[in-house]
Amino acid sequence: MQCQKCENTAVYTRKYSGESLCSECFSNSILRKAAKTISKYKMIKNDELVVVGVSGGKDSLVLLSILKKMSETHNFRIIAVTIDEGIPGYRDEALEIVKSFCSKLDVEFRTYSYKELYDVTLSESLELRDEEKTTSCSICGIFRRRALDHAAEELGANVIATGHNLDDSLQTFLINTLSGDSNKIGWMSPGSDSKQIRKIKPLAEIYESEIVFYAFTNNLPFQTEPCPHMNEGIRTEIREFLNSIEDKHSGIKNNMYRSIIKISEVMKDSSFKEKRICTNCGNQCTGKICAVCNMITDLKKERS
Ligand code: SF4
Ligand code: ZN
Repeated sequence: MQCQKCENTAVYTRKYSGESLCSECFSNSILRKAAKTISKYKMIKNDELVVVGVSGGKDSLVLLSILKKMSETHNFRIIAVTIDEGIPGYRDEALEIVKSFCSKLDVEFRTYSYKELYDVTLSESLELRDEEKTTSCSICGIFRRRALDHAAEELGANVIATGHNLDDSLQTFLINTLSGDSNKIGWMSPGSDSKQIRKIKPLAEIYESEIVFYAFTNNLPFQTEPCPHMNEGIRTEIREFLNSIEDKHSGIKNNMYRSIIKISEVMKDSSFKEKRICTNCGNQCTGKICAVCNMITDLKKERS
């Protein structure tokens, strides 16, 4: 079959639009989509330094390679940051992949670890936690957000970019809905309008399956081994459910994503919480003590 944009052979058919594309036209369509999302939400401004959170998985390495390409023709700089949670075996392989990919792209690369920042690795935290109350990913998520904020502050960056794709947003929406966490639905915009460090998701309008294909067709290296804690929560089941309905009804994920963004806009004001300063560490939070300090206090209690 021929590519619908050029004379080359098509290698990818986008089921929801019916388009068949060759590798180059497919890759260009992904670059255009990401650029459109960045410009629609005014994600990056002139002269800014962008911290790119790179885990070593396909999404973050695709994001890094796309932002590197864009930074060559636009007026912004990037720096790659990997957060080392302290998951033996898993994270070490990822760090090697990221390090060598960054040197190939000529992108500066830094790592920050939970051990350095919180004096406890993820694995140690999991031994200490109350399993009934906290999942691995909830501890990890709280620590990772703070670690990236810390990195951006220390590096003098204005923006933190992460590789979340469209499927991630749909899953998060359903997880929040099913767990009654409706407040979080108001925070689902892919670009934040915070005056502080901006959090952006340039791949937020792209299907996960297309990111996998982009990585594959551009020979990007990425870690295929999943985190050993990945299947502890409900996310994997929701992911499979969404994939099965997309299989039968092409384009349904795009429709759902559009609805989520509208719902999120409506809920934004009611989800807004006055920002306060954590009395323990001085970071911004919504209560008296921030989630990181609360978590560390709980873990220390268990340790003693
Ligand atoms: Fe952390 Fe969960 Fe991701 Fe593993 S799957 S790295 S525990 S957030
Ligand atoms: Zn704190």
